Amino acid sequence: MQGKIALEEHFSIEDTLMDSAGFLGEHVWEELKSRLLDIHGKRLAQMDQHGIEITILSLNAPAVQAIADRKRAYDVARKANDFLAEQVRKNPRRFQAFAALPMQDPERATREYERCIKELGFVGALVNGFSQIDDPKSAVYLDLPQYRDFWGVVEKLDYPFYLHPRNPLPHMAQIYEGHPWLLGPTWAFGQETAVHALRLMGSGLFDKYPGLKIVLGHLGEGLPYSIWRVDNRNAWTKAKPKYPAKRKIGEYFQQHFWLTTSGNFRTQTLIDAMLEIGSDRILFSTDWPFENIDHAAIWFDAATISELDRQKIGRLNAKALFKL
Ligand code: MN
Repeated sequence: MQGKIALEEHFSIEDTLMDSAGFLGEHVWEELKSRLLDIHGKRLAQMDQHGIEITILSLNAPAVQAIADRKRAYDVARKANDFLAEQVRKNPRRFQAFAALPMQDPERATREYERCIKELGFVGALVNGFSQIDDPKSAVYLDLPQYRDFWGVVEKLDYPFYLHPRNPLPHMAQIYEGHPWLLGPTWAFGQETAVHALRLMGSGLFDKYPGLKIVLGHLGEGLPYSIWRVDNRNAWTKAKPKYPAKRKIGEYFQQHFWLTTSGNFRTQTLIDAMLEIGSDRILFSTDWPFENIDHAAIWFDAATISELDRQKIGRLNAKALFKL
């Protein structure tokens, strides 16, 4: 399929480059490094070769979210956003941008988001899960009350917010002890991000801001497969939900979430997501440079779905959602 739009596609600046070291093994670090630092070379050639017209770029992970010092988090976010804006200006027909945000300081994060949308022409934000704030051992999640005003501005500016994975901190990760192979994209990314998304849904955030739009990668971090059970466990007890939100969790999932195919190139999983959330809410993505563009595109172009759904997921949904 020609004209695809991809939106979980990462780059890095020197300050955040080493955050991506160690994930995929020493033997590919040189290649990964060159992919992360490249925008207009190999990346664009891969897009051309595999029918991707537009890529929405975002900073690597955990990057800004892992900088416990508030001032430095703010400085690095601004630097990354300025760098990204400059790259998009070089080729705006092919590249668009998501803001990196210093959630360590909700007020500064809000102002930086406004700057990115209004002055730099970005089309949303991508945040890597919880933030470490002051204490490197802290993990502050986005459903907490200090972020309510931030979310109000996100709703008002009417662009989506991409909730992207990061690993749990070592002291939060006893379940993975002795099994480091489960960290990262194998399992921990999905578990961490799915719970974060459920926290947002249960917190009442979407009752307060009914226009909020959240994007999840990896075909929903396992949520499409599990969302029915979240609401329907032990139904015979007729117990009232124990969370502050007003409605069923599945209703928030269906009305506020969009899912991308990043790093999850599996037709069976795609069809499950389509059955739960609908083909209007699924978007093509690759997760370059951690996954290959050819693996994503060759799979997607041949996946056994209708041509109308392929057009929607490959291009039309993103065009509408990001006003491209
Ligand atoms: Mn990613």
